[in-house]
Amino acid sequence: MTDSRKKLLGVIGHPIGHSLSPAMHNAVFDKLKLNCEYFAFDVPPESLESAIKGAKALGFIGLNVTIPHKVTAIKYTDKLSKEAELLGAVNTLQFTDKEIIGHNTDGTGCINALKEAGVDVKNKRVFIIGAGGAARAIAFQCSLSDAVVSLTNRKEEKFMADDLIKDIKVKLNRDIKFIELADESVKEHLKDVDVLVHATSVGMKPNINNSIIPGDLIPSNVTVMDIVYNPPETKLLSEARKRGCRTVEGVGMLAHQGAKSQNIWLGINPPVDVMIKAVIDGL
Ligand code: NAP
Repeated sequence: MTDSRKKLLGVIGHPIGHSLSPAMHNAVFDKLKLNCEYFAFDVPPESLESAIKGAKALGFIGLNVTIPHKVTAIKYTDKLSKEAELLGAVNTLQFTDKEIIGHNTDGTGCINALKEAGVDVKNKRVFIIGAGGAARAIAFQCSLSDAVVSLTNRKEEKFMADDLIKDIKVKLNRDIKFIELADESVKEHLKDVDVLVHATSVGMKPNINNSIIPGDLIPSNVTVMDIVYNPPETKLLSEARKRGCRTVEGVGMLAHQGAKSQNIWLGINPPVDVMIKAVIDGL
């Protein structure tokens, strides 16, 4: 029987598929013996408002928000954190007695995963590949953390990199250098880079033999992070590791963004190793 004092949490997305978030969060609640439980809900766009308001009415203390709701969910918040306001997207909703507060922990998740691997991005030259939602969060958070950011993305019809670079200039008055996504220009640029963050979906299961750039372009002094977490070691990371680079897996970012959400909901600093293990066991 459900205990009415239990703190309820969850993730909403569409499709939600086999979300790893319940396993990752519930592993902490088990470990710390917290009376909390986390669920995954498939919520189509037309039900977003009623799902958020309904969860609050039912006594949930918060929700994670994932694709495709990260931007639209803002409409149903009363207040936004600085990060969510800058990004125009939320991945965490906090329900207080009076308000729904929107947060975005994706960028912090990346920065904290790098920190755990021994890299503080302050004053470091960080080169980001990608300009989608995750790359945007990372580019903003790196800029807020005083990194020197450069960026590349493929040139599709809607050229997302342009929008992101302009947005960071307008909101943070920081200049982001754009590098063409071609082997020669990337190779030349990587001579002046400390941290490479790959933030596209290339290399994700089932396309595990794909890599956005050949690993032999990367000098061994560059730290390489791939935010793709399935598989945990992507082709890019495997090649970089073989070249002697320090590598950081996307599972670390996933766990750290979840840890930050728990910090917002429950005021705790959960054991990130427990979260990482739960994700890897679930993959
Ligand atoms: P998104 O908003 O859809 O953006 C996807 C990005 O990948 C865009 O920059 C897109 O370029 C690029 N891309 C897609 N296919 C490509 C290809 N064949 N060649 C070159 N670029 C390609 O997705 P997202 O939310 O940013 O997520 C991106 C990846 O990060 C996903 O694999 C996701 O699972 C992972 N992720 C991990 C975490 C974590 O915590 N570890 C968190 C969030 C996301 P265009 O702009 O040209 O389309």
